Amino acid sequence: MTWEAALRLGIFLLVLLVVASLEFWRPKRSWREARKTRWGINLGLIGLNVILQRLTLGAAAVLMAVHAQSEGWGLLNLVDWPGWLTFLVGLLLLDLAIYLQHVLAHALPFFWRLHQVHHADLDLDVTSGLRFHPLEILLSLIYKVLVVAALGLNPLTVLVFEALLNAASMFSHANIRLHPRLEQVLRWFIITPDMHRIHHSVYRQETDSNFGFFLSVWDRLLGTYTQAPRDGHLQMDLGLAPYRDQTRLGLVSLLMMPFRSPGGGSQSEAEEAFAQRFNRHQHQQGQSDPFKGRGQEFLNTGGLGDGVPGKKLEKLIQQPTEQNTDRDNREQIDAQRATTQFPAQYPQGRQTGHRSSE
Ligand SMILES: [Zn+2]
Repeated sequence: MTWEAALRLGIFLLVLLVVASLEFWRPKRSWREARKTRWGINLGLIGLNVILQRLTLGAAAVLMAVHAQSEGWGLLNLVDWPGWLTFLVGLLLLDLAIYLQHVLAHALPFFWRLHQVHHADLDLDVTSGLRFHPLEILLSLIYKVLVVAALGLNPLTVLVFEALLNAASMFSHANIRLHPRLEQVLRWFIITPDMHRIHHSVYRQETDSNFGFFLSVWDRLLGTYTQAPRDGHLQMDLGLAPYRDQTRLGLVSLLMMPFRSPGGGSQSEAEEAFAQRFNRHQHQQGQSDPFKGRGQEFLNTGGLGDGVPGKKLEKLIQQPTEQNTDRDNREQIDAQRATTQFPAQYPQGRQTGHRSSE
């Protein structure tokens, strides 16, 4: 193991230990599912991803940074700034790139199929922050390599950012209770657990907001910021509406999730929700293939569907159409969400009460 890999592992274990200890000491919410089961699944997926990264493109971003520097590739290699400024601007731009990648993961149907694995967790804790489908990890690595080349980032920037991003993700998914004043101050700069929990709400309007991973500035600047969850932090339901049964969210099911729906059949709840998410208009007209033309709504809405919090971003990339002129009507959005996210088995719109399994 190289010194760099050892340092990364050391930082990872340290952050894991600190955040997990805080979760035991000051938990924010009671657990809906048994932690033992979830940790087994999440750590299994994380272990798979670590092996996959080591066998494939794990070091590719850093190697690309070395190459870009020697060849003079990318934006930051064109300017003659002091090292500290290039480093800081590089970190900022990488964080923005990861924010945009996350917006795309919610907007593009195939990416959303993969990203659903991260969102299907019925509780949130430190392990959720690293629980991703292996294919999403691979795509992220390729994306990162391209960003590093385009921006001309130096290897130190990439190394620091990767460690920072891992630590930030573990912190923002943690089930910890921060002092309200500390939370408010932190939130002006970085993504706090309260801010990111809203992104894991079962309500799509909330899921399609607070996309940031490290700095909170991008959500505020690009209009995807949601201040508080509609049901409150303690009562809100986490996860995805079509995937409410933990027994069907085991490791193998999660690996297969992008390729099949839990109920089986082409019109199961998950398929239905997916179809409505990306192809509501055509689906309502009774077309047999719910995924046909699913990129159109992304083009129409700037990738944010009904996401009211994403207005500014939508305006940047969207032409007004008949379909989306009613987007401001909150009541209509709520009515649509009730049918989209809470099908028959989930009629109340939310589950009352949380059980503590431990
Ligand atoms: Zn997400």
